[in-house]
Amino acid sequence: MEITAANRNWLDQLNLTHPLVLAGPCSAETETQVLQIAHELKDSDVSIFRAGIWKPRTRPGGFEGVGAIGLKWLQKAKAETGLLMAVEVANATHVKLALEHDIDVLWIGARTTVNPFAVQEIADALQNTDKIVLVKNPVNPDLSLWIGGVERLFRAGIKNLGVIHRGFSVYEKTKYRNNPEWQVAIDLQNRFPMLPLICDPSHITGRRDMIQEVSQQALDLNYDGLIIETHIDPDNAWSDAAQQVTPTRLKEIFEDLKVKKKSSESASYLLEIAKLRTKIDASDSKLLEIMGERMKISEAIGNLKKENKIAVLQNQRWMQILERMKEEGSQKGLSEAFILNFFKAIHQESISHQEKVINK
Ligand code: PEP
Ligand code: MN
Repeated sequence: MEITAANRNWLDQLNLTHPLVLAGPCSAETETQVLQIAHELKDSDVSIFRAGIWKPRTRPGGFEGVGAIGLKWLQKAKAETGLLMAVEVANATHVKLALEHDIDVLWIGARTTVNPFAVQEIADALQNTDKIVLVKNPVNPDLSLWIGGVERLFRAGIKNLGVIHRGFSVYEKTKYRNNPEWQVAIDLQNRFPMLPLICDPSHITGRRDMIQEVSQQALDLNYDGLIIETHIDPDNAWSDAAQQVTPTRLKEIFEDLKVKKKSSESASYLLEIAKLRTKIDASDSKLLEIMGERMKISEAIGNLKKENKIAVLQNQRWMQILERMKEEGSQKGLSEAFILNFFKAIHQESISHQEKVINK
């Protein structure tokens, strides 16, 4: 299957200045709340109003959304402001109701993308629709599940497609609510270069004070759009209070964001970037050469351990390496998180090289 320029026509037809902006509350709470926020967002960079009507909660007992009545409020908001309306759908009933209420954009949530049965049910219910359908990444960093979601919709004849990167659940605690794992989104972008890619800094960060920073990172990575949870009274929101911003703050964020061009035709730029890329390529090759040498040393260590009947994993030694590298890394301006990831991967590979010689 091939995602082509035809699948991003909807974005070009909106005819906006880059980037596309979706904003609105995590959840629709009352008619007044929906209308107030929509009116505040009307004359801004926002083109699409988002609001959750059915809310997937990790544990029961929380606010699970106002349900179908909220669709009427969105219809009213659309009539009054002209904004396009977006809701999350998780099953065929949601789809049917959303279509009946003339909702323009449907998104598939992270907890739904993980489930191919649910995605297929949604795709079947949407068969050949000209609505815009956006697939959030699955909760876990599994590129295939995300690709699978897009493919199911594409095969159901849905043409107007896009994806939302909202970060991933990872076992280790990080400063993010959902770790961005930018590489997964970049891999998806490489797989489907024409597919509009939207960043959701609200669910990535979980904190309103980090929205600006992550939005800028997304724009620097050539994302097509941003979806940002926006509430008239964030602290008292019925869901995701900590990450929502006011419409005023949203405007400030956009004033401060530096929007960059995707590329340039300037000859001096092209020459300079080509030179720098050659250097990067050479330095990557050097890196691999060093890694190859390092693994040969690991194999020699493996042989020595074998002769002396010593266990492969020497935890204390590994901790020493890590400490030393964190220290040296920080002197070279490398973050601790990077050093940890980098050396964990090297250590893993090193152990498997040692095991290879030991089990020979
Ligand atoms: C949401 O957008 O409010 C939402 C529930 O998002 P996610 O599926 O990314 O958790
Ligand atoms: Mn939310």
